[in-house]
Amino acid sequence: MKNLTSAYRGALLGLACGDALGAPVEFRRRDSFEPLTGMSSGGCWNLEAGQWTDDTSLALCLARSLVEKQGFCAKDQMQRYWRWYSEGYMSCTGDCFDIGNATHRALARFNLSDDPWAGDTNPSMSGNGALMRLAPAVLAAHGQQTLIWRWVIDSTRTTHASPDCIDAALVFANILDRVISGESLRSVLMNPEHPGLPKSTAIQRILNGEYLHLKREHLGDGFYVIEALENALWACWQGEDLESTLLLAANLGGDADTVAAIAGQLAGAAYGEEQLPKAWLKKLAWRKDITDLADALLALSQQLEAA
Ligand SMILES: [Mg+2]
Repeated sequence: MKNLTSAYRGALLGLACGDALGAPVEFRRRDSFEPLTGMSSGGCWNLEAGQWTDDTSLALCLARSLVEKQGFCAKDQMQRYWRWYSEGYMSCTGDCFDIGNATHRALARFNLSDDPWAGDTNPSMSGNGALMRLAPAVLAAHGQQTLIWRWVIDSTRTTHASPDCIDAALVFANILDRVISGESLRSVLMNPEHPGLPKSTAIQRILNGEYLHLKREHLGDGFYVIEALENALWACWQGEDLESTLLLAANLGGDADTVAAIAGQLAGAAYGEEQLPKAWLKKLAWRKDITDLADALLALSQQLEAA
C-alpha cells in the first residue's frame, strides 16, 4: 500500500523543486550552460536558490482554492490567479514576475467578463501553462474517477482550452493518478494509454510511448504542451531516482523550470517526499506551506471519497 502522505507531499514539493531547479536556465538553449547539479541562483528572473516561479505559484493558488472551497470552484481559482498576477499572491518573491501568454490573455478576459472559462480554444494556443499546475486537481479528486476527469478538464480550460492542452492534461492526470494508486512508475510509463482519446491527435505520440526511445538531442524546447509532457516523461523514464530525474529535466534547458515542474509532480509522487534531496528542501522557499497544502489536499480527497 502506497504511503499517500509521502506521495502527495512528493508531488507538490517535487513540482516546486523542479521549478526552482530549472528557473536559472529557463529560456537557455540546451547545452549552452554549465549543467545544473543542484539549487542555484540567477537566471533571467534573478532568483535566489530555492525560489520558484509561476508554475508553483499557480499550483499553490489552485491547491489553496480546492482546500478552502472544499472542492472545485472555477471562479475562485481564477480570482486567485488574478490576485497572483495583480498583487503577487502566492509568489515567493511577493510579485508576479513572469506570466505565460495564454494565462495572461485568459486573466484579462476573466477580468472583463467575470467568466472563469476564459481559456482560448485555438489550437495555436497550446502552451504548457495549465499542465504545469495540474497536480492539485488530481490529488484532490484521487479515488473518484469521474471527478478526476471533470476537474482535470475544468482546471485546464480556465486558462488553456485547446484540444492539445486538454489531451495532455488527461493523459498526464491518468499517469499521475495510476502512480498514486500504487502502480510502479516504470510500468505506467511503458503503458501510458488513456482510453477515449481521439487517435489522430498530437497526443498520440505520447500514447505510443515514443518518449521511451527518443534521444535527448531530439527533444523539443518544451514550450508546446505536448513537448513539455514528452520531455518530462522522458526524464522520468531516464532518471534513476528523484534527484537524477529532476536534474535531467532541468538540464534540457528551454522551458526548463516547467518541464522539471511537470516531471517533479510525477516523480515526486512516485518516489515520495523522502527521496527529495535534503539540500534542496533546505533551500526550497515555502517548504512548510507546500507540505501543509499537500496534507490538506489528502484530507480533502479522503473526505470526498467518504461522502
Ligand atoms: Mg515558470
